[in-house]
Formats: sequence, C-alpha cells, structure tokens
Amino acid sequence: MSTSHPSQTRLEGLIEALRRLPGVGIKSAQRMAFHLLQHDRDAADQLARALDGALAAVGHCARCHTFTENPLCDICADDERDAQQLCVVESPADQAALERTGSYRGLYYVLMGRISPLDGVGASDLGAGQLMDRALDGRVQEVILAVSFTAEGEATAHVLAEALKARGLRVTRLARGVPAGSELEYVDLSTIAHALVDRR
Ligand code: ZN
Repeated sequence: MSTSHPSQTRLEGLIEALRRLPGVGIKSAQRMAFHLLQHDRDAADQLARALDGALAAVGHCARCHTFTENPLCDICADDERDAQQLCVVESPADQAALERTGSYRGLYYVLMGRISPLDGVGASDLGAGQLMDRALDGRVQEVILAVSFTAEGEATAHVLAEALKARGLRVTRLARGVPAGSELEYVDLSTIAHALVDRR
C-alpha cells in the first residue's frame, strides 16, 4: 500500500515517509532526508536494508505478542520461567525494563499499546480477547498489571482488571513506588523491582 501522490518526487516521498515517524515534523523530516542523501548515503543504504530485513523477518510471538523472529519469543520458549505468573506490559521496552531488574521470573503479555479513547484505541484494539485466552491457559495463577501510571495506563489497568477478575483470575498491580505519569521504560530499576515485590 502506497500513499504517494502520482506527481510526488522521490525526495518528497522520502520526506513524507520520515514524517510518519513519532515526533517527527516536516522540518525534521526534511533535515533527515537531506542529511541522508547529501552526507551519509551509507547510512541511508544501511537504514533501507535494516527496514527491509526487519519487515520481512520480525513478527509477533504467538503467546505474548512481543516482537520476535521465531514463532515463540525466547522468554515464552524458556521452560525455566514460572508459567503461573503473567505480567502485562504496554511495550517491549517496558518488558525489557522489567527483565533488567532480574527480579521477575514469570511470563509476559505485551499489549503493544494502551487504551486511549482520544486516539480511538479501545480494549478490543489492544487484543484484550487474546490476553484473556492467554491468561486462561489453565496454568496462570496471577496476572500482574505492569502498565504505566499515566491516565491512559490507569484506564487500561481498570478495564483489563475487571475483565480478568470476571474470569476468576487473581489480578495484582505494580505498587505505587513508580512515579505517577511514568512509563516503566524511564523508571530506574530498583524502583521497578520494589514495585514488583510490593504489588497488590
Ligand atoms: Zn513470547
């Protein structure tokens, strides 16, 4: 699927594509395109190949939905992990933050987003149904909601907790040591580790 206009030049097409990245406006997109074409064609080539390769090879784990090049990610495929605990995070970056603490040995479910009514993202867009199926595998005893302490994270936690509890699952949430408004990715490791231990 291409969004390029027929009369659009290739340079304009590149700028338009770069502009679609989060936080990139028209000026930044122009600067990046000019830089790549004028000063660093090697980097441009590397970027094109990396994108091509990632698009072709990277998909989602069948069990936790995180990015992986295999049917199951390394964590889901690891028999040493505790299958009784399922930790729900918003992103692979948040999952990585929890992994770095070294204090969690359970499994994950990665939402790849959070509920955001303003952006039209509801529970079904987040794959809440898939999460229910995953949590009801008969082995999971506790679902730990490790979504961010932002307004959208709170909304996400509320909706998911209600749905999970209605299916008879034990649901806990990271303790309030994590500052309000934070995304886990940016919180220091010891704070996350404590919030994990003090969950309720
Ligand atoms: Zn997985």
